[in-house]
Amino acid sequence: MAINDSGHVADGEQVPFSQAGSHGIDAGGFAQQPTMPVQAAANQGSLAGQDLATIPQKDVARSEEADSILTSTPIVDVRNLAKTYVIGRTRIHALQGISLRVYQGEFVAVMGPSGSGKSTFMNLVGCLDRPTQGEYWLAGKLVSRLSNDELANIRNRQVGFVFQGFNLLSRSNALSNVMLPMVYAGISREERERRGRSVLRLVGLGDRMNHKPSELSGGQQQRVAIARALVNGPSLLLADEPTGNLDSRTSLEIMAVLQALNEQGLTILMVTHEADIAKFAKRQVAFRDGLIMHDEQVLSPALAKEEWTKLVNKAAAEHKVKITEEAR
Ligand code: ADP
Repeated sequence: MAINDSGHVADGEQVPFSQAGSHGIDAGGFAQQPTMPVQAAANQGSLAGQDLATIPQKDVARSEEADSILTSTPIVDVRNLAKTYVIGRTRIHALQGISLRVYQGEFVAVMGPSGSGKSTFMNLVGCLDRPTQGEYWLAGKLVSRLSNDELANIRNRQVGFVFQGFNLLSRSNALSNVMLPMVYAGISREERERRGRSVLRLVGLGDRMNHKPSELSGGQQQRVAIARALVNGPSLLLADEPTGNLDSRTSLEIMAVLQALNEQGLTILMVTHEADIAKFAKRQVAFRDGLIMHDEQVLSPALAKEEWTKLVNKAAAEHKVKITEEAR
């Protein structure tokens, strides 16, 4: 299965990239997202090669015409964007007039020290907040002056969110978690289920649909969260430290999923403070004191799937040596 540029599954199924909706996910924005402990650590060992083998492969052919239309309108176009928070008599200039364009198919790592304005920027890009000054055009539409309701509407259709702490409903299974954003979009149950199953298969969880979060490994839970973020067909995926709660092997697994989705046309903005994670993005943007300090294309991003395979093979070889030594 593959996703094409309009966000639909290439084999004709109408499964879109999506969004986590306005239900709890957006409350308070990026900076205030609660974190949850990684559950089911015991399951980590069961993350087999099979998991990674199910990552969607790059097999989408794009027409030149589609390419030129898509590349001519940025997905994200912020112009001289500023955000000032006022607390009593103090004014905090969290963003001091930044301009940035992100086009369809880009994978951008947003970096910078604590307090540099990353969360404020992501909140604005995710339509969770409005700027004090400047313009924000999302997929060709000026959104920076919209009302709260209009913003919520655009957000539900255009933006998918993935957080460090997964933010899944613990009592609902993977399918129900993924179907939730569509309830708010007024989609029939049958269609919700069809799309939910389809995006779960897309992230390699076709055989885990009825599992609750506690019955899934950390990596699998994050895959459910990614599927949930894709289910309403967003133009943009915003990921806030998506591997922050995961061990290095599982982090590679999640980065491989994100890279595969990006190869199929999904535009991704990901906040990370780890160079080891940012190296998988195609572009790195670094913030400092509310300004963009660096904005660089990564000529040949590292391949998470390759690094994952190496790590697993190394662990298997070490395990074999240990068993042989014990047998002597
Ligand atoms: P980062 O995500 O890079 O850590 P933030 O965007 O959270 O940075 O913060 C940028 C600056 O804005 C910081 O000085 C922070 O204290 C301030 N800030 C962030 N959110 C708020 C808020 N809701 N009210 C007041 N100040 C805020």
